Amino acid sequence: MASAPSRPLILLVVGALQIPLVLAALPARAASALAAWALGSDGVLQLRTSRGARLEAFFQPADGAQGAKVWIDFPGELSRSRSLRGSGPVRAIRLGKPTPGSTRLVIEFKPSISLNPNQLKLIGTSPDRWKLNFEGLPTRGLRPIGEGDLTASTLSRWAPGIRITPTRTPINASGLPNVPRGRFRVVIDPGHGGPDPGAIGIRGVRETDVVLDVSLQVAQLLEARGVQVIMTRTADVDVDLPPRVAIANRVGATAFVSIHANAISMSRPQVNGIETFYFSDSRSARLASHIQQQVLNVSPGSPNRGVRRGRFFVIRRTTMPSALVETGFLTGRLDAPRLASAAHRRKLALAIATGILNYLQGVR
Ligand SMILES: [Zn+2]
Repeated sequence: MASAPSRPLILLVVGALQIPLVLAALPARAASALAAWALGSDGVLQLRTSRGARLEAFFQPADGAQGAKVWIDFPGELSRSRSLRGSGPVRAIRLGKPTPGSTRLVIEFKPSISLNPNQLKLIGTSPDRWKLNFEGLPTRGLRPIGEGDLTASTLSRWAPGIRITPTRTPINASGLPNVPRGRFRVVIDPGHGGPDPGAIGIRGVRETDVVLDVSLQVAQLLEARGVQVIMTRTADVDVDLPPRVAIANRVGATAFVSIHANAISMSRPQVNGIETFYFSDSRSARLASHIQQQVLNVSPGSPNRGVRRGRFFVIRRTTMPSALVETGFLTGRLDAPRLASAAHRRKLALAIATGILNYLQGVR
């Protein structure tokens, strides 16, 4: 079926808070400019983006069983496509990357909902904040939904978030599996960094900080076992995805491991669990399952979401066996307090290092 024509929404720029529309300084494959979003029960969508990001918004009317859609395109590549169930007038909210290096937030309404696009305006309220009021939307049954911290980097109406900094206490590698010293080279990729904090969870815990602390300790442990480690970042700086992959491919590494923490809507704290992704080959699958097993061991009660095939850029484009581990949900009732705890992050590091060493023991 041919889809109904879509039309751009009016991008309204507030006079006093001029938004430099041409300041789209993000490189094509930078991290997504979308940092946080929320749709309130009042039918107002709020966004936080990188400062000066160039947004484009579109409207497509309902067409038969297809409800009306409003979508907003952002520069920078989304880390992971996802779909969230809506409520009331909203059928679903999806985050995707229509083209490499871009991010699209789609709000799909139920087929019975009609909206007047002339009343829809995406308004910049400051260089990094936006509002879209779904004027005339019947908000009955609409529950607030969103991801990330809308208030970050401004005066917060919420309690200040927990800030995690890398541990300085040396970590003890005794008890870890042995591998021949000097034989292996492993790339450790702490997900996100810089302007891209990754997921933001309960009490404002940021994925970028959690995974950096874990990754630095994994590196220490592997080095103590005579494995040469190359980190894609060692501080809170942004590295675009292609350079991460280029680093990995250039150094002739034996394995590549990207370390992340998961997130879902804040309204779903019951979702917890561990999952590890690989792209396609059997060696990557083996690396992923070694890591998954070890992380599960230190995460009692957290569901096993499995070793799964995934199309994340960093594991798809690396030439050596590679895996991406999601160490728990920053939005999960069970996982979030753990990820915020230094003691648990140490256990995670020991687990991931053990999984990598177990894998290396099988490399011929
Ligand atoms: Zn991540």
